[in-house]
Amino acid sequence: MKSWVIGNWKLNPASLNEVQALVDDLVDGVNTQSSALEACHIMVAPSLLHLAKVDATLRSTRIKLACQDVSALSATSGAYTGDVSAEQLQDLGVQWAIIGHSERRQYFNEQNAILLKKMLNCASQGVGVILCIGESEADFEAGSTTQVLGEQLTVVADFLQQLDAVEADDYIAHKLMIAYEPVWAIGTGKVPSVEEVTTVHQFIRERLQSFNSTLAATPIIYGGSVKPDNAQDFAASEQINGVLVGGAALKADSFIDIAKAFSK
Ligand code: PEP
Repeated sequence: MKSWVIGNWKLNPASLNEVQALVDDLVDGVNTQSSALEACHIMVAPSLLHLAKVDATLRSTRIKLACQDVSALSATSGAYTGDVSAEQLQDLGVQWAIIGHSERRQYFNEQNAILLKKMLNCASQGVGVILCIGESEADFEAGSTTQVLGEQLTVVADFLQQLDAVEADDYIAHKLMIAYEPVWAIGTGKVPSVEEVTTVHQFIRERLQSFNSTLAATPIIYGGSVKPDNAQDFAASEQINGVLVGGAALKADSFIDIAKAFSK
């Protein structure tokens, strides 16, 4: 399976000039090192405001584009101030949406019922879903990681149940991935060991397979303080099918170094 290396730019950078500089550096880096990057998919998720600008530069490249969120209220258009719909993303050429990032869960109180609506809206427009799950530090210390992840993953079963058979097969085959991001590892510099992540990914894979056996091949990527100096270790595990990168995605060099580690 080809790995996925995805940069989540969150609410960064602050200016259009900086966004353009970052995307230009990224395109240069990917072009000059293309043979070292062949074996992974590369994707970035700029802020909503910058999607169209970044899309204009990436359109002729192999770098894919994701949105950091999508409306739960409408898949198309309507009176929903501040929202962006799956249809608008599709129209712009944005193929993927990140759904359920821990910052959305924490600051916007997003839970499974809302996430399910977002996933279904994506499905109605053919936008791929990167579903983020992860336990808090308190859950980790209490030994509740798999219980929390199990609850978060029920949305996948509910999602597939509401699609028709053809749509479900399409999502399972090409348009669904899970990002395991322990909340305590995001932006903190603390990372679980590769063995710990591998064990959690095995649990996630088994749970997905219990919903539908063909979910065995769903990419499961890791996120949380991934840097060029630890990427190689994560890339060595067959259970880790890529990474979701926050801070280290804001410098083209470090993001490309991470992608190289996953392209071997
Ligand atoms: C993230 O927010 O998805 C993330 C993984 O951030 P960081 O790499 O900065 O920990």
